[in-house]
Amino acid sequence: MHFPQQLIDGYRAFLTGRLRTEQDRYRELAQSGQSPEVMVIGCCDSRCSPEVIFNARPGELFVVRNIANLVPPYAPDARAHGVSAALEFGVIALKVKHIVVLGHAQCGGVRAFAEDAEPLTPGDFIGNWMKLMAPAAEKLGPRGNRSSSDYLTLLEQANVALSLDNLMTFPRLRAMVERGEVKLHGAYFGVATGQLSVREHATGKFTQVADDDYARLFGHPRF
Ligand SMILES: [Zn+2]
Repeated sequence: MHFPQQLIDGYRAFLTGRLRTEQDRYRELAQSGQSPEVMVIGCCDSRCSPEVIFNARPGELFVVRNIANLVPPYAPDARAHGVSAALEFGVIALKVKHIVVLGHAQCGGVRAFAEDAEPLTPGDFIGNWMKLMAPAAEKLGPRGNRSSSDYLTLLEQANVALSLDNLMTFPRLRAMVERGEVKLHGAYFGVATGQLSVREHATGKFTQVADDDYARLFGHPRF
């Protein structure tokens, strides 16, 4: 068998750990179906699993992930739209109450866009996908004398804002947001630090949450 041993080992740990404690919940969810209240749109990056960051139990998060946590604008054509299909299912069928766009630091997709990297594949799927980010970069303006790392952070966060804007191009979702039935949120995970920031809707500013616990657990010693 060529199935990765790492996955079999992980599954064994799941059997003795999480499945043991969550077995009733899994059975219940199998019978009643899932009804998560939160949908997360995150990046494929292996360091940014929403279930891990939010310590989610089975059935709690409805997750769609793609390169650089992008939401393409509403485009009702005959092409296959993965994010739009997931959105439709989350909003219409599951009736999620919150949609969180989760960006992150050191995003390879954002960096590739910023550095205008050569396409990684002959089919240029990534290049075409990353073009969706162009309005975020335009809004942010030229790099100027910002350091590369400061610029990338701003671009990663502008990209979250762009995905939130694009969510509002879906007419039915927009109406639900305007009626207060669905709430949209932006968040940003610092991979190196483990800090989580949430976007304030009015100002667009990202502010660290649970900073008291973070400081207590990971702050520098006082002496
Ligand atoms: Zn990423």
